[in-house]
Amino acid sequence: MKVISLRSSSEANCFIVWTDESAIILDAGVSPKFVLKKLEILKIELSNLKGVLISHEHLDHSRYAFAIAERFNIPLYINKKTFQTLYLKYNIKKSKTDNIKIIFFEPNKMFRLAEFYVYPVPVLHDAVCPVGFGIKLGNFRVSYFLDIAKIDNNVWRYIAKSQLVIIDSNYDRKMLINGTYPNSVKKRIINSAHLSNETVANVILNHPQRDNTEFWLAHLSKDNNTPEVATKTIRYVLSKAKITVPVNFKILPQRNLGPIWSSEKYSQLSLPFITNEIKNIVSNLYSQLNDEQRKKLDSTIGKAINMKNFSFQPIKVDKPNEYAWKVTSSTDPTEVYVVARDIEIVGITGVKVANKVWSCECADFIFRCQKLGIPCKHILKLITTLPGNFISR
Ligand SMILES: [Zn+2]
Ligand SMILES: [Zn+2]
Repeated sequence: MKVISLRSSSEANCFIVWTDESAIILDAGVSPKFVLKKLEILKIELSNLKGVLISHEHLDHSRYAFAIAERFNIPLYINKKTFQTLYLKYNIKKSKTDNIKIIFFEPNKMFRLAEFYVYPVPVLHDAVCPVGFGIKLGNFRVSYFLDIAKIDNNVWRYIAKSQLVIIDSNYDRKMLINGTYPNSVKKRIINSAHLSNETVANVILNHPQRDNTEFWLAHLSKDNNTPEVATKTIRYVLSKAKITVPVNFKILPQRNLGPIWSSEKYSQLSLPFITNEIKNIVSNLYSQLNDEQRKKLDSTIGKAINMKNFSFQPIKVDKPNEYAWKVTSSTDPTEVYVVARDIEIVGITGVKVANKVWSCECADFIFRCQKLGIPCKHILKLITTLPGNFISR
């Protein structure tokens, strides 16, 4: 799954979520022509487009909702109240929407769109029925909360599980309060429209998987924010909290294509991939073992291969480009550590010695030296120190 922002500001918003097979458009603040150009750049086939989703009726999100659905001949996913408001606002004749397939979704009701599961999350924003979107594919979740004035529990629950958080970072408090907007507008923005840089900084700070998550600051106000001020605020809050590990946050460009987030970077979480790797490594390792060692290996590895019984829990790793998970089995309490760096898995299993997890630089099982008493000719590398309260068998 990949995600990109085509545009994000108070003027226009549009995002694409796609895979090799399908693509969906989030919000329609830009013209079909604009979308078409970007699809060409991204090499996304038009036939892969499966729908356009509208978060709420404000024109920076919906101006081209009907036009995009019509031009690409894809269904428009929208909730009923938003549709009715749009319909009235645009004064579009029935005949114009007759060609468009409209699919009404209900807030809080998950629906399937091509390969994706979409969860429309109701949000606080001054619109008739505004929602954010949670998008799930396999083990990956993306949060899309672009126009939102408050992070409630429902919103937080989704954000906390996401590996990509796209979030409203509309204003800097000081700039807004000291700015030229009438007081009533200032109040509206703070109470019922948008989030500040400060709030977003705290979302990042409190995210339970902060080190494995990317944060995109979206919808920056032209008058009450700048990318520099937003960056400074996030850095300030994180440094005050003594967060030294680099945090992956990006300010989305207002008019240009934004960065691409790809779940492949996090694909160590994808179980079939890990299972294949393990099988390859086991078969290589087998050829070098005697019978007794093979038996021992079987009993240990058998549990690891049966991945569907395992649950993955990220472990804090010191280096920003390394990821590690504590893997636990629902059928057996044996702990296994899966260790990976960037896209490639560099070590399948780590070993725990005291509160430290070690892995080998090579893609060999560490059991080679630990469980089986086979000397490893490679250097073990400390990949993480477990927190003090980590429960060990
Ligand atoms: Zn809005
Ligand atoms: Zn907006």
